[in-house]
Amino acid sequence: MPTTTLTKTQTPHIMVIYTGGTIGMIEDARTGALAPFTFDHLIANVPKIGRLGFKLSHYEFDPPIDSSNMNPQLWKTIAEVIEANYNDVDGFVILHGTDTMAYTASALSFMLEGLAKPVILTGSQLPIGEIREDGTENVITALQIAAERISSGEHSGQPMIQEVAISFGRHLWRGCRATKESSTDFGAFRSFNYPPLADMDLHICYRTDYLRRVDPHTSLTLQTSMSQTVGIISVYPGLTQATLKRQLETPGMQGFILRTFGAGNAPCEPWFVDPITQAVKDGKVLVNITQCPAGGVEQKRYATGDALAHAGVITGLDMTCEAALTKLMSLFGRGLTSTQVAQLMTKSLVGELSE
Ligand code: ASP
Repeated sequence: MPTTTLTKTQTPHIMVIYTGGTIGMIEDARTGALAPFTFDHLIANVPKIGRLGFKLSHYEFDPPIDSSNMNPQLWKTIAEVIEANYNDVDGFVILHGTDTMAYTASALSFMLEGLAKPVILTGSQLPIGEIREDGTENVITALQIAAERISSGEHSGQPMIQEVAISFGRHLWRGCRATKESSTDFGAFRSFNYPPLADMDLHICYRTDYLRRVDPHTSLTLQTSMSQTVGIISVYPGLTQATLKRQLETPGMQGFILRTFGAGNAPCEPWFVDPITQAVKDGKVLVNITQCPAGGVEQKRYATGDALAHAGVITGLDMTCEAALTKLMSLFGRGLTSTQVAQLMTKSLVGELSE
């Protein structure tokens, strides 16, 4: 039975999984181009880590990758590393490029079933090897969060964070609620539909009411099979029936995220609604996700959304596109039928939506 309690006097043992990204890059003095560090180089550039007094172990991608090259096979690798070390460490910090960090955080949320320990993703906008940078702060904070324990009450000694989260700049976000909102701001991430799990200023202030709580005796099980027969269709003024049908009729596809306007609206004319209705009749699962970063889908609010509901499109409520896509991948990856997938898409599995 895995135990997740730790007394204050024990040295936290954190595993760092280094995948790559800007955080681990250094400027080549000769060419000026950014090239990835090895893990040892990275740690050597953050001597303050030693002052935390934690026991660290690590796993690194060889070579480290730009997160634009992230894929479901690499998510599986990360999940398997977590499973293999789960009972030996107190928490995990994943160093990851910012570009696809929200996809990885969402994917891991669905892959790591029964997770009761912290899995904290972080990265940076400027490389640790630069003079002015945000990476040092982000890594140190992520390590501290991964080591944090509940200090009193019936859950005393258990991990403060029992889920996948993104720690970046001044906030900790639920992983399956976060999205990258800026390519330049040191606060690169935001969760528009769920409050921060913690705010970082002089202190790390946890918002305990919003944290996921898991039975500490729950065992971790992996669901790493991710279907790649799902995709995203964006609706835009000027979309043609031919383009829509080409996507919907791509052989082998089981489901799509339909990125709609506003409260979940799309053209209500036959050129659009008919192929959508046919796709649902053919057994495909279509999930309505708004293009707006904040708010969610209310299909009954306007006739244009109602037409989608009549066609059999499932509401994605207030999920991020990243969460909806990886959830669809995960559910089809488990071999569920379209009916089962459609039912589960509107249920919160790991706190990814407000029911
Ligand atoms: N392209 C980089 C990556 O996602 C950007 C970053 O790390 O911020 O790997």
